[in-house]
Amino acid sequence: MFAKPAQTVAFLSAVLFVGTLEAATYIHAGRLVDVNAAEVLEAQTIIVEEDRIAGIEPRYVAPGAGDELIDLSDATVMPGWIDMHVHIASEQSPRRQVEAFTKDPADFAFRSVAYAERTLMVGFTTVRDLGTGHSLAQSLRDAIAEGWVVGPRIFTAGKSIATTGGHADSSNGRNRALAKDPGPIDGVINSVTDAYKGVRARYKEKSDLIKITATGGVLSQARSGQNPQFTVAEIEAIVTAARDYGFKVAAHAHGTEGMKRAVLGGVDSIEHGTYMSDEVMRLMKRRGTYYVPTIVAGRFVAEKAQVPGYFSELVRPKAAAIGPLIQATFARAYKAGVPIAFGTDTGVSPHGDNWKEFLYMVEAGMPAMEAIVSATVSAADLLGQTAELGSIEPGKLADIIATDGNPLTDTQAFGRVHFVMKGGAVFKRP
Ligand SMILES: [Zn+2]
Repeated sequence: MFAKPAQTVAFLSAVLFVGTLEAATYIHAGRLVDVNAAEVLEAQTIIVEEDRIAGIEPRYVAPGAGDELIDLSDATVMPGWIDMHVHIASEQSPRRQVEAFTKDPADFAFRSVAYAERTLMVGFTTVRDLGTGHSLAQSLRDAIAEGWVVGPRIFTAGKSIATTGGHADSSNGRNRALAKDPGPIDGVINSVTDAYKGVRARYKEKSDLIKITATGGVLSQARSGQNPQFTVAEIEAIVTAARDYGFKVAAHAHGTEGMKRAVLGGVDSIEHGTYMSDEVMRLMKRRGTYYVPTIVAGRFVAEKAQVPGYFSELVRPKAAAIGPLIQATFARAYKAGVPIAFGTDTGVSPHGDNWKEFLYMVEAGMPAMEAIVSATVSAADLLGQTAELGSIEPGKLADIIATDGNPLTDTQAFGRVHFVMKGGAVFKRP
């Protein structure tokens, strides 16, 4: 039963290699938010090795020789936040419609570098990008993963899928010469057959999931902000095709009918959900469909609708009508027990303001602890990344943030993230 000498030497050198090469990082957490138990643990030590969490000790443990100590004994420590609805390569402004004609994709790509860094620095270590053209979000995702750019982990839907004239038909509002007739490759479908091609085109462009615009929306140059824009058969075809590629499906929806069709069609999340009826809430609860509220975007467009010239005259009345309603819908959905995952639609509101969603969720009646759970455990579940993300547990990726002060008792502390670690690397220190 003895190993051959050569094997023994190989085994011993492997042990020595692993045991001595990488120093560990010891984080002393004054308050550690245990998002699984929804409770706060005091005076804990998180041990990080390479990109993962190696262990948690229920007391302060001194690091060994060569290990690093990060003292967060005055702070509130929790898993990195996950924003389930951003547009990482754009930001709303009165110039946006014109810039679609005057700027090149590279111009937007350079801006997205700044947006990504701002996002990470306010505590969002992961984002789900729900609609970016020209493969900008895929390129940014890869540049961040390869270390060229500082930013959050990105999961992107690539180009959103719409029907002709629908919310994500990017030719809306253009004259006949420029509008043309975009098809499935450009994210516009009009049949079950198109639906398959639209999903497969997203696979080809290296997207991670699918986004559809199930109803009209606020910021598109089109009249209705809420009409249904897909048939149930088209949505079912998209969901069926998506499953072949391991894609989840997110559905933008303001109006009740389009939202109901999306839920019945099998989507994984409803985004915005403005006119969500009690019936739709019951359906979502029964089917486990997540609601991603985006309150911060609603408030932002409602405010800008009052600024003359900020939006076109086609968009302004929609922003004024829909924007102010989302927070109240969120309050009803939360009370009704609809599963909720945190999301902001940032890119409508400015990048770096994502954390304000926490304030509006708490203001609408959700306890701060549950808001944190929605941005960690629940978001990771909706991403399909529970094994890797969403909590501070041995084996998971070391995405850890800390706030100056305690956001569970002072919601303004959500805006005071002073420590950010992503994948074991520190990007921000107190
Ligand atoms: Zn959006």
